[in-house]
Amino acid sequence: MAEIELRNVRKNWGEFVGVDDVSMKIADQEFVVFLGPSGCGKTTTMRMIAGLEDPTGGEVIIDGEVVNDVDARDRDVAMVFQSYALYPNMTIFENIRFPLRMRGIPKSQHVELVKRAAEMVELGDYLDRKPGALSGGQRQRAALARAVVRQPHVFLMDEPLSNLDAKLRSAMRVQIKHLQRRLKITTVYVTHDQVEAMTLADRIVIMNGGAIQQIGTPDEIYTNPANTFIAGFIGSPPMNLIKGHVEGGTFTAPGVRVEGIAVESGRAVTLGIRPEDCHLNGTPSQMTGTVFGIEPTGDQTLVSLRTDDDLFEIRADRDFRAPLDTTAHIGFDLDRLYLFDGATGERLR
Ligand code: ATP
Repeated sequence: MAEIELRNVRKNWGEFVGVDDVSMKIADQEFVVFLGPSGCGKTTTMRMIAGLEDPTGGEVIIDGEVVNDVDARDRDVAMVFQSYALYPNMTIFENIRFPLRMRGIPKSQHVELVKRAAEMVELGDYLDRKPGALSGGQRQRAALARAVVRQPHVFLMDEPLSNLDAKLRSAMRVQIKHLQRRLKITTVYVTHDQVEAMTLADRIVIMNGGAIQQIGTPDEIYTNPANTFIAGFIGSPPMNLIKGHVEGGTFTAPGVRVEGIAVESGRAVTLGIRPEDCHLNGTPSQMTGTVFGIEPTGDQTLVSLRTDDDLFEIRADRDFRAPLDTTAHIGFDLDRLYLFDGATGERLR
């Protein structure tokens, strides 16, 4: 059992507010991902859960107990960092065993526990090697094995995949998710990579400027973003956001005209539409632009269109090609439109 609760947690350094009044509960066995741009406070929040950083205010609660004054080593959390921090002079066996020695687990159990952890990450045959003789992905798996070897209460992971290349990252994502499901350890994972967040999380916590912007399942965050910050952060490419005005039920912006928008006249509105909800040469069309770039990805083609000063992304069929500056008319899926307040960015509908 490990439930984590943050109650009005803050972290200031002098006048600077790093984490601002964060409150949330993480359920036992849940996989929660903190997602946000660099400097948004996600690592600091996690370090406060770990006990590596003291909150300036509020309470960190693990299993009903306020742990603000409990030492990091007494919180029974295991951390995995982006630099795997393996000891280069020790074998993989010794590296994985290290936490068992630190925790005073009886020696007679070590071989069995290390082997089991190594096998979970498919490193059973590499125990005699030193870290320098492993690939990046194998080293990262060794770091994972070291974190799981003593079956901690809570797993904390800070960008553990950011030093790996794209192929390894996706392979390791699957490993981490599998391991977490298998071991049922409450996990908090920090990343600025929205694909990682979407694929790993039971729930995503989106942070910006030290505060929580939205908490929800990947599905909820994708289909119901609370504001333009989230809409513009999630999805690759993310939602197109078009600033304009509504007059007499018609939204207009340079190159864009959408009828039937039920918002009072004169209001500044930001209209949102995802790249997959736009159709080339749609009739009727809501937008006219010129082709700025074509990016085939194999299974689809991403098309950038220019309207006035803005770029607009749409997903087209895999075989779509067009010369630069070709005029294109785009139809929107009107039931997939999002409306945000033009001033605050908050979702209107
Ligand atoms: P990144 O993805 O770049 O690691 P992050 O979201 O994890 O970013 P944090 O490391 O939590 O961000 O930092 C939040 C803010 O607090 C940043 O603006 C950072 O500069 C500031 N900060 C972090 N540690 C300290 C410190 N010891 N003293 C002063 N400011 C700090």
